[in-house]
Amino acid sequence: MSVYLDHNATSPLRAEAREALARAYDAGGNPSSVHGAGRTARAIVETARTSIASHFVTRAEDVVFTSGGTEANNLAISSAKAAGAKRLIISAIEHDAVRDAALASGLEVEFLPVTNDGVADIAWLEARLSGWDRNADGTPFVALMAANNETGVLQPVEAAGRLVREAEGLFQVDAVQMAGKLSFDFAGSLAHYAALSAHKAGGPQGTGALLLACDAPLSRQMHGGGQEKGRRSGTENVAGIAGFAAALEAVGADEAARMAVLRDALQSRLESVEGVRIWGAGAQRLPNTLCVSAEAWPSEIQVIAMDLAGFAISAGSACSSGKVRKSRVLEAMGASEAQAASAIRISLGWMTTQDDVNRFADAWMREYARIRPRMAAAG
Ligand code: PLP
Repeated sequence: MSVYLDHNATSPLRAEAREALARAYDAGGNPSSVHGAGRTARAIVETARTSIASHFVTRAEDVVFTSGGTEANNLAISSAKAAGAKRLIISAIEHDAVRDAALASGLEVEFLPVTNDGVADIAWLEARLSGWDRNADGTPFVALMAANNETGVLQPVEAAGRLVREAEGLFQVDAVQMAGKLSFDFAGSLAHYAALSAHKAGGPQGTGALLLACDAPLSRQMHGGGQEKGRRSGTENVAGIAGFAAALEAVGADEAARMAVLRDALQSRLESVEGVRIWGAGAQRLPNTLCVSAEAWPSEIQVIAMDLAGFAISAGSACSSGKVRKSRVLEAMGASEAQAASAIRISLGWMTTQDDVNRFADAWMREYARIRPRMAAAG
């Protein structure tokens, strides 16, 4: 059995989520039907909605279920466009679910730079918003993720939210990587929109949500049966939604601290090796994420070597795996091309043990010691 260290791509289904999925499938019924089976399905959806809302400190009526984080981010950006935004500011480290949606929107897109530690430059944002030309550029719209999927670096969302609110703009937070790892307070973030995804927290794939502040405009993209108060048509994924809530409820109070201990121990072993660099180490990070580059050892070769040794890790962003390319996130942090092309992401999760981490460190260090002289000789 291989050791799974790729929880930022998908965190395997928790037992509690599996049970909730099975119960919901067994219950059957369409939440829009008026008969008993329909009412049971509706109750499952609404109970989950209340639980998810309280987990993220918001109201149940402000949770719109979607097919995942990608749809939730796209829905927020389309809504901003319909609400009069003409120019979007997105951070340089956003996931493709935000970046590509912004670039496809037909609006002007500007990139909020990050420091070498991967933290959004709030002074830049403040200066940019203070010079905003509302007539020419419409309502300001800013997207800043809560935690980066590659480096785990946490972003100053409250500070950005305050600036955007002062500028009477719209603020979107991609909070997909927070769920199941750290708490995310939607109300405190001052965001108008936040995107969530169940499978990053040990829930099922294909389920997510958009959280909406009470003053957030929403322009529906899916037309049809008028589900989700007309905000997102399509029969709800009842079992997925139940599994999403169950996964969040199952997150242990000490999970984050436990992961941080394992991650820090792994980091100190890997950083003792010559030629290794840890990305975002000077910033606050998710407790489970370690982004490492190893001089002259291409990411995709590391991933394959570790796979053969029985460890699942990833090169850069998981959503781009299968088509490995150098990391835009690391480039925005000032990485050289060689560093960006030799970075891997190790992401721990609810089931990771000390033994998993020790064995990974042994295998990776052994392989790097073997391969490094050859890479150096090959130039
Ligand atoms: N946003 C971030 C930060 C992610 O890491 C991901 C997935 O990797 C997504 C959005 C997309 O979420 P989903 O897979 O639910 O569409």
